[in-house]
Amino acid sequence: MRCPFCKADDSRVVDSRAVDDGLAIRRRRECAECGRRFTTSETSMLYVVKRSGATEPFSRAKVVSGVRKACQGRPVSEDDLALLAQQVEDIVRATGSAEIPAMEVGLAILGPLRQLDEVAYLRFASVYRSFDTLEDFEAEIALLRAEGEAVGEEPVSVSSTTVSPTTQTSHTP
Ligand SMILES: [Zn+2]
Repeated sequence: MRCPFCKADDSRVVDSRAVDDGLAIRRRRECAECGRRFTTSETSMLYVVKRSGATEPFSRAKVVSGVRKACQGRPVSEDDLALLAQQVEDIVRATGSAEIPAMEVGLAILGPLRQLDEVAYLRFASVYRSFDTLEDFEAEIALLRAEGEAVGEEPVSVSSTTVSPTTQTSHTP
């Protein structure tokens, strides 16, 4: 990086820190020639493509504001929300794309939110995936229960009607 004071081509990084909630990195550089210091800023190239086609920089704050309403009255702290936004960013960045459809950001929210709070998840999913009927909720709840059982939680008790052996009359010839 060229020194803005003496135009020498050689400079070294003396400090580097994340700013803007991790969306940018600011570096302090020192010129190898004149020894003066200057700052460079490296901004994230991760963009969200909205349904309208417009793009905007990915923002963890927007993820948080998007799920906050679904978390109302639930035991979810600001730290939980911040961690969720971090997880969503990790998922989105892991795709390796510079531009992510808003739809995919929503999908990336579903997983961590379900881990965080199942009620909040159902609220968010009902809007995001436009649940129209009670059956949509029932199907999703059944899925949550099935996955809960799969990880060893207490199974949901189902009263099953057993057929009494006395009613089973044999009709073998
Ligand atoms: Zn210089």
